[in-house]
Amino acid sequence: MSAVLVVEDEQHLADGLRFNLKAEGYDVDVVGDGEAALRALLPATGDRYDAVVLDVMLPGLKDGFAVAHELRQAGRFVPVLMLTARGRPEDVLRGFEAGADDYLPKPFELQILLARLRSLLRRREWMHRDQSSSPRTGTQLVDHPVNDPKTGTEWRGAAHDAADEIFVFGIKAIDFNSLELRVGDRIVRLTLMEAQLLRYLVRHAGKAVSRKAMLEEVWGLREDTDTRAIDNFIVRLRKYIEDDPSKPRHLLTVRSVGYRFVAEPNSSAKF
Ligand code: CA
Repeated sequence: MSAVLVVEDEQHLADGLRFNLKAEGYDVDVVGDGEAALRALLPATGDRYDAVVLDVMLPGLKDGFAVAHELRQAGRFVPVLMLTARGRPEDVLRGFEAGADDYLPKPFELQILLARLRSLLRRREWMHRDQSSSPRTGTQLVDHPVNDPKTGTEWRGAAHDAADEIFVFGIKAIDFNSLELRVGDRIVRLTLMEAQLLRYLVRHAGKAVSRKAMLEEVWGLREDTDTRAIDNFIVRLRKYIEDDPSKPRHLLTVRSVGYRFVAEPNSSAKF
């Protein structure tokens, strides 16, 4: 049974979420402010919850942004679904900057919240399964063979350790197990969704992928969703992996389509 912490101060909404999440089979706790949320989420004994539904507007000194930020600062990477006010795209950006994995504007449809939550939990389970499985041979990171003629050229010269799920390009290395990105001697901790998105882009290296495909394949979202979320993630990933995020060489914008990951910019003349 997955344990979910709901951080919501509006009593009727908190009660409704508790009732419906329990009906879905989740173990649910509810707290009404940021301090209580951090007490629940930062025990010395490790992560008690599998996911957090976190309202942005909370009473007291810590709002949802502060909670997400402190959580990530503390090295806790439990998936966070943030509830934002509708029509405030700046909240969405701030939420992702603070470390949220996904967001939902209020008021929301219960079914959509449940779908988002399931999607976050599925991805977490999948990550854990990857971590606990025994070392494998062959290519595990890519769905398609590395020498796939459609994608292969971008992999030329890029070291790829399948067993450890580490992808190396230039002086950068992404460890999809520990959710760490190493750039030289700097280590960046990635959120689950940052890692998932990067992994998806790496898997499709050299190919343009649409925002819609990313939302469907990475977030598991089939419904119409604001694709701005993708752009915000790309902004963050560029800050991590680009020498100059304003002149990206790895995460390229493909006009009117989406984005393309290029591992070795110098060998991509073909594109
Ligand atoms: Ca609130």
